Amino acid sequence: MVGNITLTMIKPTAVKKGFIGPILAKIAEGGFKIVAMKFTRLSLEQAQKFYEVHKERPFYGELTEFMSSGPIVAAVLEKDNAVQAYREYIGATDPAKAAEGTIRALYGTNLGENAVHGSDSDENAHIESYFFFSELERF
Ligand code: ADP
Ligand code: MG
Repeated sequence: MVGNITLTMIKPTAVKKGFIGPILAKIAEGGFKIVAMKFTRLSLEQAQKFYEVHKERPFYGELTEFMSSGPIVAAVLEKDNAVQAYREYIGATDPAKAAEGTIRALYGTNLGENAVHGSDSDENAHIESYFFFSELERF
């Protein structure tokens, strides 16, 4: 299992702009298999828990308020070397600096509202997957 899954979220602005469909199509096009998925909304407390690793960063308040501001789509994606492959596929954190054709370049709005989340390590991919999904919800 280790090394073949990553956790993504389609962030509130991308959902509001109607980009769920295009982003899921792009995820499929990249060869990522959806093994769990839900449309949900995080409370501020849940967003603070999800992003706990960033709690000392200056943007923690802005980030957690934004991520709890509207519905999101959370999904577990499977592919060889999923964490690194997906981070390359979504592009740099700032959509303005993301490579052409990447998900953040195509669907991101700005540095904070950058369309999607992607796990940064295999360990965090597993922690984040269990944050959203039980065994019964993973296929
Ligand atoms: P990534 O999502 O590329 O792994 P980070 O883990 O560094 O980036 O940051 C988590 C999220 O916090 C980013 O995706 C973005 O939404 C937000 N963020 C990062 N840096 C800033 C910043 N300087 N100002 C506002 N929001 C930021
Ligand atoms: Mg990160």
